Amino acid sequence: MISGSCFCHAVQYEVSAKSQMQGLCYCTDCQQVGGSSHWTSYAVAPSDFHLVRGSLTGYTYDPGSGREVTRHFCGTCGTQIMVQSDALGVASVNAMTFDDHSQFEPKIAYFSASAPRWCEVDKNLTPFDGA
Ligand SMILES: [Zn+2]
Ligand SMILES: [Zn+2]
Repeated sequence: MISGSCFCHAVQYEVSAKSQMQGLCYCTDCQQVGGSSHWTSYAVAPSDFHLVRGSLTGYTYDPGSGREVTRHFCGTCGTQIMVQSDALGVASVNAMTFDDHSQFEPKIAYFSASAPRWCEVDKNLTPFDGA
């Protein structure tokens, strides 16, 4: 079991499954939302993500694939907790909001072609450019 929270701790959650898709997402959406070179994605089925405390604010949009995604944030401090795609059946949880960061073991580099040039993508990660 994984537990996590947002920066202000208003939102607390648990993840009840071990992710088979752990990776860093270098897409430009994740860069803009997070202010970083990448998003730390711990992908599980939406039913394996459980809100324990507080509530999430969502922003739903089409990232260009024709499949809507919803980015879920803490409405108080703005920490992005999870990105959900109902079409793909995936909840991508922000591993940097885990209480124990050692539970995140990234193996995949998503959309590394759009990584900033000042950012070195780990060669040990398996490239993945979307389904
Ligand atoms: Zn918060
Ligand atoms: Zn992304």
